[in-house]
Amino acid sequence: MGKDSYHLNTKLLGLIGHPIKHTYSPFIHNVTFELKKLDYIYLPFDIPPSTLKTAVKGMVALGIKGFNVTIPHKENILQLMHNVSEEASIVGAINTVVNDLGKLSGFNTDVHGVYETLLPYKDEITGNEMCVVGAGGAARAVIYTLIRYFKPNIIFLINRTEQKAESLKNYFIEKMKFDNFKTRELFPPDLVDVFQNSKLIINATSVGMFPDSDDIITNLESSFNKDQIVLDLVYNPPQTQLLKLAASKGATILDGIKMLVYQAAKSFELWTGEQMPVEQLHKSLQLFIKN
Ligand code: NAP
Repeated sequence: MGKDSYHLNTKLLGLIGHPIKHTYSPFIHNVTFELKKLDYIYLPFDIPPSTLKTAVKGMVALGIKGFNVTIPHKENILQLMHNVSEEASIVGAINTVVNDLGKLSGFNTDVHGVYETLLPYKDEITGNEMCVVGAGGAARAVIYTLIRYFKPNIIFLINRTEQKAESLKNYFIEKMKFDNFKTRELFPPDLVDVFQNSKLIINATSVGMFPDSDDIITNLESSFNKDQIVLDLVYNPPQTQLLKLAASKGATILDGIKMLVYQAAKSFELWTGEQMPVEQLHKSLQLFIKN
């Protein structure tokens, strides 16, 4: 959309976080507005924690229709909402806010992103052993989605700091009454059997993210096999070392770009009531990242 096309009625959407280093959300949403000829614009705002409350008040005062929320505000923003969706309340984090004439509703569309990415493999995954690496905000959305929609037989919760995995386990036992967890420290030689026996492996850490793209949660190829599905939440680069290694052993691999577009599509729908052309955006984003 060219600059000339913004006018009095252009609706504003955005993203708040701190620091806002790199984000593909403006690309995803602004390209979609253009494709669908919608009179919206999406902008990033760098908001430090000390000004979160005033920034949100300001957004309401300016009539901003909604915004995404990223690190470090995903949890703290809960207290500023009038309504919180069931999944955001259980996950304990919000990534999307809708402003309905000053009434703020919070959602967690990462859940939708994980769900839609795994949906084509639902029959294969359901009821099996699953393995989640990471114990941060993204891992929370992943665990919620697995328990809610994929009936895990057992979830192995693996993290560099095992204590955090333990806390997360206790959190979900309390919140979702699911207690079939085992926690492990991220020490690859001890995890070969755990990975090998898991139908689904999800990397919900930032390991492998640009500029440390050579990093990998395990470089032991005996951890992978052709019957597995491996999802990496890292989206830059789209083909992480983890996905390359898993693919070399025949596993089905799913990249973080897909999830990123699906979570954006749900936010987009909540704000505009319209559907995002997900396949088209997935391809556009892959091209955009390559260049
Ligand atoms: P976070 O809350 O900061 O959690 C980071 C996690 O990564 C923690 O479990 C941390 O372990 C682990 N970690 C970080 N550096 C590590 C290292 N060098 N070695 C081993 N473990 C390490 O972050 P988050 O919000 O959960 O995000 C995690 C990743 O998911 C990020 O890359 C983010 O971009 C991605 N993500 C993608 C999407 C998508 O749509 N594709 C959506 C959300 C998030 P400790 O607990 O030991 O510190």
